[in-house]
Amino acid sequence: MPVTTEQLDQRIDELLSEFPPQSTPAVEFLGQQFDRGLAWVTFPEGEGGLAGSPADQLHVLRRMSRAGAPSAAGRNVIGYGMVAPTIVIHGTEEQKKRFLRPLFTGEEIWCQLFSEPGAGSDVATLATKADRDGDEWIVNGQKVWTTLAHEAAFGLLIARTNPDVPKHKGITAFLVDMHAPGAEVRPLYQITGEAEFNECFFSEVRIPDSHRLGGVGEGWHVSLTTLMNERVSIGGTVPPRNSGLIGEALGIWKQKWAGRSDSHASAVRSELLQSWVRNEVGRLTNWRASDLRKAGTPGPEGSVAKLAFAEENQKTSELCVNLMGAEGMLYANDYPQVRPHESAMMGGDMRKAFLRMRANSIEGGTSEVMRNIIGERVLGLASEPRNDKDVSWKDVPRS
Ligand SMILES: Cc1cc2nc3c(=O)[nH]c(=O)nc-3n(C[C@H](O)[C@H](O)[C@H](O)COP(=O)(O)OP(=O)(O)OC[C@H]3O[C@@H](n4cnc5c(N)ncnc54)[C@H](O)[C@@H]3O)c2cc1C
Repeated sequence: MPVTTEQLDQRIDELLSEFPPQSTPAVEFLGQQFDRGLAWVTFPEGEGGLAGSPADQLHVLRRMSRAGAPSAAGRNVIGYGMVAPTIVIHGTEEQKKRFLRPLFTGEEIWCQLFSEPGAGSDVATLATKADRDGDEWIVNGQKVWTTLAHEAAFGLLIARTNPDVPKHKGITAFLVDMHAPGAEVRPLYQITGEAEFNECFFSEVRIPDSHRLGGVGEGWHVSLTTLMNERVSIGGTVPPRNSGLIGEALGIWKQKWAGRSDSHASAVRSELLQSWVRNEVGRLTNWRASDLRKAGTPGPEGSVAKLAFAEENQKTSELCVNLMGAEGMLYANDYPQVRPHESAMMGGDMRKAFLRMRANSIEGGTSEVMRNIIGERVLGLASEPRNDKDVSWKDVPRS
């Protein structure tokens, strides 16, 4: 039986009155939220959810936000958006019990160990290997661009377990302890001066077989769940109207331009309006998509949202710094090489946001790759030639 809005509201009311968010420690509140199925409402009962719909989830998020309830989503962005849905679909009962609750409360931060120096867009070519040794696996290799690995307790890792079969078939997924002997995390600095992502080295790192996620050789299937959720998590949110970047642009325009009636100001106003319309269309499209989407793994529509999000964010943050005039060039950062506790994907100083948004068309799959997916899987156009599809991974030439 699907959960009704009245039942949801009753659970939310009980949570908020028994554990007032303002006086309850965040971890305790979030633990209670999880136990009552109000963490990810679309997940099954007992796993932080109530088998509800994405619209139910939106309802809970709005009520929690209005009540000033804590959230670990910003600190655990990879955990919330990608790892949790992957564990729910592919994890064993023990894995779900062990990992989902502390992930939601933010006691355990997660990272995603997919990309490698030689495997990004075509991540299935990855070379990090995991060799079986009794009840354990021994991992050797390097991952790169790993967001928040410096904060992470665990990582969702994909590694090659069989080099003799074609690239997609010899991959297995694991849940790896980021503090295990042999795991090393080194910072990578970005254009913003911060280092929110990392390169990760694995030398003889041991993972118990009980932390394998999905079957041996099923890692590609597992990672598709992660990647589809990543796209929706990056591009598919439904913020309130006039919030986020377009809200910032409106604020700057009101402050600096609203009183002017010269031709420059009217050209700027027209640019702002066009941007507002594009942002609003994106917001309403995501709203409709989230209402229509059934619980479970999102489909290729996530790629449409991700592509639109990346392009619009870059344009709107550029508009913001243009509206700021000369001030837009004054990025007050002396490159202290901070290691942030959150991914700076959104918000903050618009000059920093403008720099950070450059990465939007790369992270979570590049815009070119999104266009390929939309062309092939949404529009049904001819596929790209894939010459290595049926060749053993070990026989494919690599640089
Ligand atoms: C801010 C940020 C955070 C990230 N966080 C993570 C993370 O937490 N975990 C993780 O595993 N990875 C992470 N990544 C890595 C990201 O997923 C990869 O950078 C991305 O998939 C592209 O891979 P690449 O950098 O190796 O580029 P390549 O795949 O080498 O691509 C280079 C260029 O070629 C183009 N190209 C490649 N193939 C095609 C094709 N078939 N058709 C047309 N054009 C093509 C690409 O669009 C790009 O312009 C992050 C990246 C960034 C920027």
